[in-house]
Amino acid sequence: MSLIFKNSFNQLPKQFYSKIEPEKTNRPKKVLINNSLCNDLNVDYNYLDTEEGINILSGNLIHKDSDPLAMVYAGHQFGNWVPQLGDGRAHLLGEVLDREGNKYDLQLKGSGRTPYSRGGDGKAWLGPVIREYVVSEYMHNIHIPTTRSLSAVLTGDNVYREETYPGAVLCRVARSHIRVGTFQYFYSRKDTKSLKILADYFIKHHFPNLEKNENKYFELFKNVVDGQINLVTSWMKVGFIHGVMNTDNTSISCETIDYGPCAFIDNYKSDKVFSSIDSMGRYCYKNQPNILMWNIACFASTLVPLLEGTEEKKVDILQKEISSIPEKYKNKWLLEFSKKIGLKKIYPENEVLINRFLEILESENLDFTNSFRALIKEVESSNELISKTDTFKSWKNDWKKLIKKKSNQKEVCKTITSNNPAFIMRNHLVEKIIQELLTDKKDTLNKALECIEKPFEKIKHYEKMYVGPTKEQEVLRTFCGT
Ligand code: AMP
Ligand code: MG
Repeated sequence: MSLIFKNSFNQLPKQFYSKIEPEKTNRPKKVLINNSLCNDLNVDYNYLDTEEGINILSGNLIHKDSDPLAMVYAGHQFGNWVPQLGDGRAHLLGEVLDREGNKYDLQLKGSGRTPYSRGGDGKAWLGPVIREYVVSEYMHNIHIPTTRSLSAVLTGDNVYREETYPGAVLCRVARSHIRVGTFQYFYSRKDTKSLKILADYFIKHHFPNLEKNENKYFELFKNVVDGQINLVTSWMKVGFIHGVMNTDNTSISCETIDYGPCAFIDNYKSDKVFSSIDSMGRYCYKNQPNILMWNIACFASTLVPLLEGTEEKKVDILQKEISSIPEKYKNKWLLEFSKKIGLKKIYPENEVLINRFLEILESENLDFTNSFRALIKEVESSNELISKTDTFKSWKNDWKKLIKKKSNQKEVCKTITSNNPAFIMRNHLVEKIIQELLTDKKDTLNKALECIEKPFEKIKHYEKMYVGPTKEQEVLRTFCGT
């Protein structure tokens, strides 16, 4: 079987999208095709890896079953309302079904201008395309819900930013590309009919068991609340900073979407920001749970016209659900961070212990991932390894007492190992991969792809892939993926 597209989104009324084909490219050339994702999606890798396949993945050729379109949406960007955004550099090619029958969107990104491009050129260059490919695939392999990357293809055309770069196209795979901003688009136009069509479409494809439920829209809301709490907690757990948590980048299917200026923390700093455009630190590490709540509140507003009852009652039930977020988040966070220090359950002592550990990392400028991971060695060692300070000594003492009381060494080590990846797709590695690719080298990329496949293990002889950046390698600023 080569590639079979379904098209359910284009059955929706025309106010949901603009039908538009990707721009033709000069000389498409494969950089990466994702074999394991092909397998999950029941797509034939060997077909994609032909001239015809590469032409489809670059947007040059339209598959016979594909009916490309750009989706419309709106959104709050850095808190400012933008009434119309939309896929300005992306084309939805259609949908494929995986082996279990789940629907996935295939979307090209960097595939040319659309009616929503505003001033942009609709293009992407190789850097952001590769960044999205490796980081999203890494996220998937550490079990964080995310859009995935089926391919990265060079277009053979130049893209002009501060400099001239090789143009590229990513094929992004998502459960859905519907965002909070898609709901906001119709809500802000008081188009309740379209809003209902949108919610019903989403429920039909993602929560079919809710279709007959009397409170289906409120149930949808509760599911999104839980999904977003799960998502943001999983980011916090690995020190991931998304960087642009705008409502147009907040997926209703609760997948990590839009890998622009994102990065993982090396040395822990709770207010860490990488993005060059986030000057106020709105989307800094520690603020991500607050922004989650802000974005959910935006989503809640859009559902008011769809719920039954008086205005007061509707607002009241939504508000109650929103008010439950901090406690739900806190419990999830506590459980996940407990696992990071080797405990599978929440005990009364855990919270203080976790926070004390984080304070040590911050005040002693220690690496987030590697320090948690090093707890495996601390379990067995009578000397302190992570730090020699008295504060750490005293922490270790209290921690060891607790794990001894509640568990055993073997279990603790197992829990730490499976909850703290050995490999982190660090920003300086991403930069190295990109710089090498610009001179046709793939050494770091190939190593990274191997590490991405087994992120909880250390591959022999790849020591450099597991350490934090040197002072010179440190990436201080990241940029939006345009
Ligand atoms: P983002 O910050 O990546 O979520 O993008 C915000 C909006 O800008 C979306 O509507 C994008 O489609 C649009 N956009 C970003 N880069 C480009 C580009 N190079 N050309 C056209 N539109 C773009
Ligand atoms: Mg976006």
